[in-house]
Amino acid sequence: MTLYGFSQPTHWNGQELPRIISRLFDVPDGHRLEVARRHGAYATIGPALFDRAPYEIIHEVAESGLRGRGGAGFPTGVKWGFVPRAPGKPVYLVINADEGEPGTFKDRLCLTRDPHLLIEGMICTGYALGVRTAYIYVRGEMLPQICILNQALREAYDAGLLGERIAGSRYSLDIFVHRGAGAYICGEETGLINSLEGFKGQPRLKPPFPAVSGAFGAPTVVNNVETIMAVPYIVQHGAKAYRRWGTEKSPGSKLFSVSGDIARPGVYEVPLGMPFMEFFALAGGLVGELLGCIPGGSSAPVLTAEETRRATMDYESLSSLKSMLGSGAVTPFNTTRDPVLILQTLTRFYAHESCGQCTPCREGTGYVDRVLDALIDGHGGDGDVDLLKSLADQYEPMTTICAFGPGAAWPVQSFVSKFRPYFEAYIAKNPQRQRTRDLAGVRPGAFW
Ligand code: SF4
Repeated sequence: MTLYGFSQPTHWNGQELPRIISRLFDVPDGHRLEVARRHGAYATIGPALFDRAPYEIIHEVAESGLRGRGGAGFPTGVKWGFVPRAPGKPVYLVINADEGEPGTFKDRLCLTRDPHLLIEGMICTGYALGVRTAYIYVRGEMLPQICILNQALREAYDAGLLGERIAGSRYSLDIFVHRGAGAYICGEETGLINSLEGFKGQPRLKPPFPAVSGAFGAPTVVNNVETIMAVPYIVQHGAKAYRRWGTEKSPGSKLFSVSGDIARPGVYEVPLGMPFMEFFALAGGLVGELLGCIPGGSSAPVLTAEETRRATMDYESLSSLKSMLGSGAVTPFNTTRDPVLILQTLTRFYAHESCGQCTPCREGTGYVDRVLDALIDGHGGDGDVDLLKSLADQYEPMTTICAFGPGAAWPVQSFVSKFRPYFEAYIAKNPQRQRTRDLAGVRPGAFW
């Protein structure tokens, strides 16, 4: 597993860059409690937190406009507001560190470089929501991060920052690390909860939503690593200070992991609303001539070069281009790349990772993968490009238990419509033009 580093300047184009999440990313041994504390860690664990009522913390976070950084972008304060007051059951906080989408590698850097900021964020969140027990669900392959996290938790317990009566207050919190088994679908919150409970990691039908009935049948808030790491800053400095960064509707900063045809791949923390082209310059510049860009993780609909040039890195701009900010994984590719082969990588991933509960997702992702493979192998037939699109159209609407189906369809639909000549070129190379459907084993129209 590659762990790209963090080498971000303090200023860019005369403007200071935010260091809300990445404050300790370039501090040697910043993952150790002693070093982290010297740089201001756990400043909120005291009167700044415990002298305030829990609802005040929820209100502050809601005012900040912080949105979930795992992909969905749901407003965090609103999500917290769904937790019933005095539910008569424990309330659980679960951190989603099951990062597994191609191109997304920000959370593993967070866990490696500053696990104490996550723990501090969990204490603030736990206090606000009345949580006594919290979990961090980490992707199984992230063994180095799990070791660092466990060490940080031990340090926090030894320092009285976790366990009974934190820092002399009346608030107590225990945190457990749960190691997943490497299934992408466990990043979906109900799949994650199933896995946490010891069941197969398959998503559940909603409602009920986890905030009402989640882990062990109790109210559960599932938040992404980066989301919770922003909370201490908001508690300490207030919503207004957080809103100093970003745009009106997309306030604050965000970690972006950039890979692909870029000079300095890695993780960067920038204000939301930054133009993509400026971001590429910050990351050392594009390599070659831009052909397109996946702007927010593998399920985000691809942008053409022209769309990328006018897009900014915020929820609204990408939504207006019928794409999304997602997890903040940015993958530009140049004119030496073949969009058909890029899509093949993505479709193979989704066909492999479908949990298999829903027929449209289970069968559709596999069928698309087989048609695309045949096309690339020189067996494409007339109508295959439309076949790809029409298959994806079947699992794109929410006819499935979870959002994996639509998320797997968007790359197919967008690549086919925006880079169609590349697909047609493969078919033109096949003199017979009739074999894909035979290879796929199903007549068009008979599939559904
Ligand atoms: Fe599983 Fe796909 Fe259905 Fe989600 S949409 S529950 S991944 S089969």
